[in-house]
Parts: sequence; structure tokens; C-alpha cells
Amino acid sequence: MQTRTASCHCGQLRLSCEDPPRKISMCHCEDCKRRTGSAFSVAVFYARDKVRLMDGEARQWQRPSASGFPVTFHFCGTCGSNIYWEPQRMPDLVAVASGAFADPDFPAPAQSVRTVEKHHWVILPEDIVQFADYPPRSPG
Ligand SMILES: [Zn+2]
Ligand SMILES: [Zn+2]
Repeated sequence: MQTRTASCHCGQLRLSCEDPPRKISMCHCEDCKRRTGSAFSVAVFYARDKVRLMDGEARQWQRPSASGFPVTFHFCGTCGSNIYWEPQRMPDLVAVASGAFADPDFPAPAQSVRTVEKHHWVILPEDIVQFADYPPRSPG
């Protein structure tokens, strides 16, 4: 078993996550683009009891989602990095930003969602499962 640490840009917020994650999902939706400031988001879903806030204080912001359930985002009040979020649709899971691990060897996402909003230049891995919209019953 491996424990990984996710942290914000300034380092005051650190999250310990016990592997393996339940699912890794890439999302191309407009909300993820605005949240990350990037072309897509990669969410690493862990069982809630495998994730622990080690250091720091997070601020929260909640918004409704396409599923009809709100999502609460936790971010660093100093540097603004959003390192984890909680989709109320999946109360047993916590999503952690893949980039917050800053590990080039981190496993690849198994699925890609909202590909209708994907930037044309983003090339997906060959074996990834693709959904034009959000998948119906999956932590996407
Ligand atoms: Zn920070
Ligand atoms: Zn998204």
C-alpha cells in the first residue's frame, strides 16, 4: 500500500491519500476549465476514509452541478489551488486534483468525460473510455 501526498502551490495545504484510488477521470467541461485554468481536469477519486487533511486550512466554495447535486471545492486561501472537492452525488468519494500530486508516474485516467467540450488539440490515450457527456453512474 502506498500513501501519496497532494499539496497546493504554496505548500500550506497537504492531503494524504492512501492508494489505490477508486477511479481516475479526465473532464473537459467548461466548469473544470474555469476551475483549473487549464484545458481539462484530471480527478482522482478516493474513498472518503482514505483521504486525510495533514496540514493547513482549506476554504470552501460550493456550486450546483449538471447532475443536480452540489459540489464543494476546497482550495488554499493563500495561493488559490483547488486540491480536492466533494461531489454530493457520490458522498463516499473525495476527488483530488491529479496535478496536486505533481508526480509524472501517477497512473493515467481510465475515462474521459464531456468530450463534446474537448479542445481539438488534446489527444486522448488510445485505451481510455470516452463519454461525450457525463457518464450516467460513475464518479465523473
Ligand atoms: Zn497554498
Ligand atoms: Zn468537468
